[in-house]
Amino acid sequence: MRALAALLLLAACTVSEAPAQVEAPAPIAPPAAPAPAPVPAALTLACAGAFTQGGVAVCRTLPGAQISIDGADVGAADAQGWALIGFNRQYGASARVIARANGAEASHTFEIVPREFDIQRIDGLPPQTVTPTDPAVLARIQREAAMKAEGFASEADITGFLDGFIWPVEGGRISGRWGGQRILNGVPNTPHFGVDIAVPTGTPIRAPAAGVVSFANPDMHYEGGLVFIDHGHGLITMYLHMSRLDVQAGQRVEQGQVIGAVGATGRATGPHLCWRMRWRERQLDPTVAIDGLAAARAQLLSAP
Ligand SMILES: [Zn+2]
Repeated sequence: MRALAALLLLAACTVSEAPAQVEAPAPIAPPAAPAPAPVPAALTLACAGAFTQGGVAVCRTLPGAQISIDGADVGAADAQGWALIGFNRQYGASARVIARANGAEASHTFEIVPREFDIQRIDGLPPQTVTPTDPAVLARIQREAAMKAEGFASEADITGFLDGFIWPVEGGRISGRWGGQRILNGVPNTPHFGVDIAVPTGTPIRAPAAGVVSFANPDMHYEGGLVFIDHGHGLITMYLHMSRLDVQAGQRVEQGQVIGAVGATGRATGPHLCWRMRWRERQLDPTVAIDGLAAARAQLLSAP
């Protein structure tokens, strides 16, 4: 994870230049929020975060400015001038971000650092979870896809991502990295869009940042116990294979709040947390986002 530091473009020197009398941050929580920078009164554009495949960045611009990335319209900056942008697994070598308002525009082109991904072979999974043929199972998968689509469509009017993220579980080891090409029971599958953290069943799962629960179901075919948290601006995190759910859809959660417990439900070969992140149809890497959002927070939240 050290190498990621190099990917955090624009990580301001303000991070390391803190005065000596400032208290060290608690081990699990990010540092207290810096004084918020004033809302921009003119069309400017500043972005900071993880500019890499699977990465996420935060931009600040004139409130209401329309944001586009490489020509794709991704909505307007909120009333404080915040906007979020993300880069999927196969994103190209650069991203041009444009903010438009009142016939004018401000833009930046960011280099997107390419990554290499693992090949992951997993054998011994129940065949109906890899190559389902049972009509009842196929119907269930289709029903559940529609339910999840509703959870993904959530648009909570919050900016939980400005909290900076904490890890949802303590300890454990990464047993499956994000973006790996998967070969399940010998059959090539879609890439693995989660980070798997091996921890025992019953380990509490905490909300990495404030948000609104947009989906909660204890018994999904693939995912088992499944929760989505909407952190605002289309940024949604997902928690799979849970043994216990402590939250319901529509509920507001704070950073660090326990949302349930780790398990091995659904398509899993053992207890672990599969942690996923999505932004407007793009799958993102939560492990990259943790560092990217911390860098964005340090740089963009502090007044100049
Ligand atoms: Zn996983």
